Parts: sequence; C-alpha cells; structure tokens
Amino acid sequence: MLKDGLLTVKDNQITRSRQMMAVAVALPVHDIYSYSIPAHLAAQAGVGKRVLVPFGRRSVTGYLIGPAHDSTPPEIKHILDVLDDQALFPESMLPFFEWIASYYMYPLGQVITTALPAGLNLFDVTLLTVSQAGIQAITTASLAPLEARILQALAKGTATTKQLQKRIGQPFSWALIHQMQKRGWILVDRQIKGGRIRPKTIRWVTVNDTAPPSKRISAQRQTILDLLHSKGDQSVATLKSHIRTAPSLIRAMEKAGLVSSYEKAVYRDPFGDPIEADTPPDLTTEQAHALETITPRLGKGFGTIVLAGVTGSGKTEVYLQITQAALDLGLNTVVLVPEIALISQTERRFRARFGDTVAVLHSGLSQGERYDQWQRIVSGKTRVAIGARSCIFAPFAQVGLIIVDEEHDTAYKQEGGLTYNARDLAVVRARQHGALVVLGSATPSIQSWYNVTIGKYGAATLHRRVNDKPLPAIQTVDLSQGRDDRGIRRYITLPLQNALQQTLDAGNQALIFLNRRGFAAFPICTDCGQPLRCKNCDISLTLHKKINAFRCHYCGFSKPATSACPTCGAKKIKLLGMGTEKIQETLMQLFPDARVARMDRDTMTRKGSIVKLLKDLKHRHIDILVGTQMVVKGHDFPGITLVGVICADLSLNFPDFRAGEQTFQLLAQVAGRAGRGDQPGKVILQTFNPDHFSILAAKDQDFLAFFDREIGFRKSLGYPPLTRMIALRISGKDAQQTADQAQRLGDRCRELLIAGGPYKGTVEVMGPIEAPIARIAGQFRWQIIVKSADTGRLHRFVRQLNGGAGSAFGKRHVRVIVDVDPFFLM
Ligand code: ADP
Ligand code: ZN
Repeated sequence: MLKDGLLTVKDNQITRSRQMMAVAVALPVHDIYSYSIPAHLAAQAGVGKRVLVPFGRRSVTGYLIGPAHDSTPPEIKHILDVLDDQALFPESMLPFFEWIASYYMYPLGQVITTALPAGLNLFDVTLLTVSQAGIQAITTASLAPLEARILQALAKGTATTKQLQKRIGQPFSWALIHQMQKRGWILVDRQIKGGRIRPKTIRWVTVNDTAPPSKRISAQRQTILDLLHSKGDQSVATLKSHIRTAPSLIRAMEKAGLVSSYEKAVYRDPFGDPIEADTPPDLTTEQAHALETITPRLGKGFGTIVLAGVTGSGKTEVYLQITQAALDLGLNTVVLVPEIALISQTERRFRARFGDTVAVLHSGLSQGERYDQWQRIVSGKTRVAIGARSCIFAPFAQVGLIIVDEEHDTAYKQEGGLTYNARDLAVVRARQHGALVVLGSATPSIQSWYNVTIGKYGAATLHRRVNDKPLPAIQTVDLSQGRDDRGIRRYITLPLQNALQQTLDAGNQALIFLNRRGFAAFPICTDCGQPLRCKNCDISLTLHKKINAFRCHYCGFSKPATSACPTCGAKKIKLLGMGTEKIQETLMQLFPDARVARMDRDTMTRKGSIVKLLKDLKHRHIDILVGTQMVVKGHDFPGITLVGVICADLSLNFPDFRAGEQTFQLLAQVAGRAGRGDQPGKVILQTFNPDHFSILAAKDQDFLAFFDREIGFRKSLGYPPLTRMIALRISGKDAQQTADQAQRLGDRCRELLIAGGPYKGTVEVMGPIEAPIARIAGQFRWQIIVKSADTGRLHRFVRQLNGGAGSAFGKRHVRVIVDVDPFFLM
C-alpha cells in the first residue's frame, strides 16, 4: 500500500502532490475525493479523463478534475485504472461544470456525466484474454479459487467483463483482474466500439483546362461545358436537372478528356437528400444593420445581444454571417437550436454554408456518431458546433460566440436529472470565456427582453420579412358564438371552413393546429357526470380511436373504449371536447376529396414516419395537416398558405405564471408558418377569449405590446424575471408520508424565515401545496416554491434547508427534487 504514494515523497515533493488527484465520482455525492495515482498509471492520468476508483465496497467511474487539495486524506486510496486515452473535455471547462454544480445544486460528477455524450461507457469495451502464462498458471501456480475459475473461463476464449461474469457466474473486482494482468496471466485490451460516420459522397464534374479544343461537339455537350465554365464545378445531379442525359454524356466527355469527375462528401438532410454548398445572399438593409450592431462586438469580451426578428425575417442568415465573422477571427462558435424530431432547417443551412467545419450534436445521431462528433470538437478539428440543448457542453477549450436560436423555446429547459436551462448556461459559459451571446427569436422570452430593457443585454431588430413578404393576415373567430344543434361546440367554424375551401380550391396547403392529442379531451359519464380519470394520475383520460381505448397522456395507462363508468357503472360515457384525431375525422367528412394527415406523438412514433410525412407535405401529397406543437417548430413549407388554430385558449388556463407567455409565443410562431412561399398567408385563430391580451398581441405579432402588459403583471406579483424561483418537488407513493414530508419541509422553511434572520423580508416561501397535477404515475406530488429577488440569498436558503445535520430533505420513501428556475409548475 505504501509503495506508490509514499516512495515518491522521498524523491520529490512536487511529484507527490501531482500523484494525488481530485476525482469527481459519477454518483449522487457532493464531495470531491482524493486518490493517489499508482506509478504505472501516472503517464495516463490527466484532467478530463475517466478513472475507475474504489468507493466504499464498489468500483465506480469518476472524472479527474485536477490535483488534490487535501494532501493528507485519512486513508490513501488508489486509482484502479485510467479509462480514456484522450481527455473527454478540456480543463478550461471545469469552472463551467463547477458553476453548474453549485447553481443547480447537483453533484459535480453527475454534472459531467450529463454533459458528456450519452452511452459513453458503451464505447469502452474491455476485452480479456488469457495469456500463455495464464494457461500454465492454471495447473502450476497456487491459485485462489476465483482466480482459477477466471482463467479457466477465459481459456474458452476472449471475453468482455460482462461475458466473463456470466461464464463464471459470480462477480469479481477490477482490482483482481489488474493483479492477474500484472502477473502476466491476463491480457487486457480496451477497444472503442461504435460506428464511425461514413460520409456520403456525390459526384462532381470539373472542366479540364488542358482539354484539346474539339472540332465538333453536340449542343448538349456544349451546354454542359458552358455551365461548368460559367458556374464552376457542378454536381452530376445539378447538371442532370438541366439535361436529363447528363450522367451518360459526362461519362463520354470524360473519356474524351473534356471533363473530369470526382467524389465530394456531402451531408444528408432529413429527407436523405444531399445538402449542397450555398453562398451568402446579399443582405437586406435590416439584416446588414443587425450585423453591423453585432459583429464589432466579437472578440471584445463578454456581451449578450437579443436578435428580435419577426418570422421569416432572415435571422438564420444573420447567424450564418456572424459565425463567418467569428471564424475569420479564429473564434469557436456554438449554435443551439431547440430539440426537434429531426435535424432542423437551421442546422441544414449551417452545414450548407460551412460544410466540414461543423460538428453536430443532437439526439437524431446514433451514439457512435455523437461520440465521433464529440471527439472532433475535443481534438480541435472543428470550429463550429451546432445542436440541441446539450450542445452547450460542446468541449471547445475556448468559445468566442454562442448563438441560441428560438431562445424562448421551453425545449432548452431540461426536466429531470440536472434541470438546467441551456439558454441561461449559454450566458454563463460566454461570461467565463469572454464570449458574445446572440439570443434570437421572433418572440423573445420575457426574461431576455427584460434584460434588454434594463440595459443588461443589447438588442438588434428585424421588423420585416425578407423581400418585404407580408406577414400573414390574422383573423380571430369567437368560439363562444357557434354551437351546433347537439350542444357540442363546433370547432370547425364557418370562417375556417370557408378559408379551407378556398385554400384547397387554389391548390394550396393548410395547417390545422390543436394543442391536444387524441380524439376527445373529456370522456364523461352522462349518468353521474364524473369524468373518466387515470387510476395513477390526477388527470382525465383521452380517447384514442385507433387503439379504441382511453389513454392517460402522462403515464400511458389505458382502458378499453367500451368501459363502463367506474363511479356509477353506467355504460353512458360521452365525449366532450376535441382532440387532433377528432379534428382530422371531421375534416375528412367536410372535405372528402382532400388528403388530410395528422402529425402528433401518436402518429409519429417512429423516426421514419416523420420523414415520410414531411416529405409528403413538401411534395404536396398532403392538403391539410392536423397537428400539435410538433408542427410549429423549425419547418418551412412554402405551399402552406392557411394556418388554422382550433382553440387558442387551451394553454391559457394552465395554473402557471408563464401560461400567457407560452400561449403568445406558440400562437405567434404557428401563425408564422403561413405565407412563407410566394403567396401571402392567412391565419384563422379561434378562441373563447378574443380580447385576451396574449391573443391580441399574437394576432398583431407584436411581442413588444405583449411584453409591456406581461411585465406589469410579473412586477405586481413579484414573479420572474423580477425575482428568481426554486421549486422543491416532493413526491412519494404514500399519500400521508408525502404530505407529512412536505409539511415538515414547509415548517423548516418557516424556521429559517424567523424575524431578524438573514432571510426575513427577502425570501418568500409559497406552499407547501399539492401540485396542480396531484398525482402522476402513482406518485403523490407536492411542491414548495421559494422565491427572492436576491439570487445569492435564495440559493443559500435552499442550501441551508438541504445541508447539515438537521437536513429537511431525503426521507425514506419520499423524494425531494430541487428545480432551480423551474418552468413546469404543474
Ligand atoms: P427566420 O429564421 O427569421 O424565420 P429565415 O432565416 O428562415 O427567417 O429566412 C426566411 C427565408 O428568407 C429563407 O428562405 C431564407 O433563405 C431567405 N433569406 C434570408 N435572408 C435572405 C436574403 N438576404 N436574401 C434573400 N433571401 C433571404
Ligand atoms: Zn396516468
């Protein structure tokens, strides 16, 4: 035990301190531990690599984060193994991880695990083989029984540790394998598994300068030569679009020495079509102006600018050109886009502009692909990383520019695990690197725009669509006016029906938006009046006709559609309200000749089905698309001239202080889908509250008007962004235990709020209350919301609740989760 750490002390004091390193273990523990590095691993050990360390009676993965601070731990433990050849993240990212761990009150090791590409461990496969000496040892050496069993098992063939464990039917320690390796009995080979990206290539054609001037050449061949001369190299596919027989012509021309062809790597877009390189267009006056505001700030230290531009105003082109400017200055750029089912249009355009310099990180990639992309960034092979929220962890040593597209999008907030907000982290990381942040949106969040109004952030605005395309005309239709004879409200009102008819007659496409899946929102028993509820969750079930069952949207519980009322037993369940499925059915009845498709989480369970549907939409095999939020994001279809919103109020009545903001953003964004092509767009917005200011502002696409009203409301109630919140979510299987724990936590909060203490008058505690959805998946739910205008004090308050001997958290059977800056308050 003494040999590694202590021997070196005699040699050299510095060596010793380097030999003890700090490790953040990937476990829910907040402390950092010190381990000594055995001599044989010293060369491999470096910050940013994973190690295997003993922890209690287990061996666990940890991350090397630097030299140990406590030089004399009570008991010296050794690192068992270094798991990576190359560091997984640069040392300069540690302050970022540490900030996150502290702010979100989450263990550092688990922060790092969250940041790294998922499934990393899968790629690290250890192969064990018995050596010649090992075979001999089976018969000659005096072996422990387990050692003998391991060698015998390996004699049957090379195995992974998992396979070996299966073969011998009992667990073994890594340390034992290491010992056996040291004695030369076992060979350990670590392999990185996982598919490497095979680039797709397409054939390009270039003119041969040295080609002999040919005497006679066909008109078609001459056209091809002219194209190549005037436009430069072209892909065979492009040439084929001019001349159908281009592929065979080119083969012949190549033989004649007139042209040559070569393979060029391309990326695939969601439709599987290659993305061809593009060149920047001339900027509009507004775009040029925005660029003049933003680019001079690059490389000049930390700053944040909100780019507010109406839908279709060409924000993406501005992002592209700022990125170009950053590249010219040698700065690395991170681009965040909201998580969507497919790669977004934004990503596609970045790849068209920057090609191979772009690394991509999002959930559409396989784990192998993601790992490769990560390595490209770590090794400095790329300067631009684009991806969904986790791309904020792109392992650049230095970042000069961070762009957040659609910064208002709630997809930037991670729910569950480390509940970070990538938009907020963009600002934090930029501050640490002295970088510039650009937050772009047609509907900036109240929080970001508030920071503009108090001078913390700068702003640039695009008021008009590119080419002065008009914004869609928006008409509101009051839903409370029309009831059909059976007393059920008609959700396809006459104005919407007429507009649909006109759109179909003109050969255009329509998008019908409803923020609710399924067939009927509320199955209700007409005898006793009780709604049909989920047995696990406090929420109504929804009819899904296709599976002929009622289903819970939270936990998936389902019940046959033929069920009797569980309360009174009557077989008189009637459907009230509507869902996407019912709207689709109604539309098919109203427009029997139209092709009506639906896009929601029920129809889009497989990735391929989304691609097919979007392709059908693009190629106009669909006339009317009915969908939920899914249709709002990131898609740009020029054939859509009509957008119908079935019921704008659905999200307005959520018991959440952001309900108005989210409704406004959703409506303004969905309206922005219309009229992106050559023909002007029209939007019909059906609502029960035509005079609600969220709806009025969405109608005018006027986020400033919305902001002015909303910020007044937030101020008067002391809600974010004027204050910050931390939600404590208490959940458990037992109703009484959960309620008791919530109560205890509430009492403890009030103790901390005693008069004369540091929190009185600055920290406010709301609750404990039963959560608006009081039960999900069998878990009873309570919440306490703590808020304060003083962020430091707010965080100290919750830490004090959590820490020390009198910890109010973590009782058996009841979980308490800390959600800093919460979004989902249901
Ligand atoms: P936004 O992101 O603001 O909604 P986009 O960036 O998608 O808008 O731009 C809308 C359309 O206008 C896109 O098809 C884009 O290619 C085009 N566009 C953007 N800038 C220009 C420009 N300067 N000249 C011509 N077309 C442009
Ligand atoms: Zn349920």
